Amino acid sequence: MDDCIFCKIINGQIPSEKVYEDDEILAFKDIKPSAPIHILVIPKKHISTLMEINEEDMYLMEKIMKAIHKIAKQQGIEKSGFRLIASCGPDSGQEVMHIHFHLLAGKKMGPKIVA
Ligand code: 5GP
Ligand code: ZN
Repeated sequence: MDDCIFCKIINGQIPSEKVYEDDEILAFKDIKPSAPIHILVIPKKHISTLMEINEEDMYLMEKIMKAIHKIAKQQGIEKSGFRLIASCGPDSGQEVMHIHFHLLAGKKMGPKIVA
């Protein structure tokens, strides 16, 4: 998608600090981190929201989870833990319309996700 920030990161038009990449998944540091470790994990295919994933693309969710396992080990947080957040649609405040999972770690999180 031409006007999508994350597609521009994927094709290198916008620079990013990559932490993981394979043929279909990319992970990079969030530009405005909310925790000492704040990584965004995305499919390279442009899918705008979690509700837009069709049956054919569902395997990408498995690939994302496998990438998250690798990233957690690479970042040394596989035992200390992390929080995964994915927003979908207007009520969630989703700003970038390209599916992404926020991987937050490196500090003790509060007991609740803000609602
Ligand atoms: P959302 O609110 O859509 O769930 O989260 C979008 C996230 O993308 C935000 O945490 C924001 O800081 C991050 N972000 C937006 N633009 C850029 C960018 O150009 N580069 C990087 N690395 N992160 C970005
Ligand atoms: Zn996109």
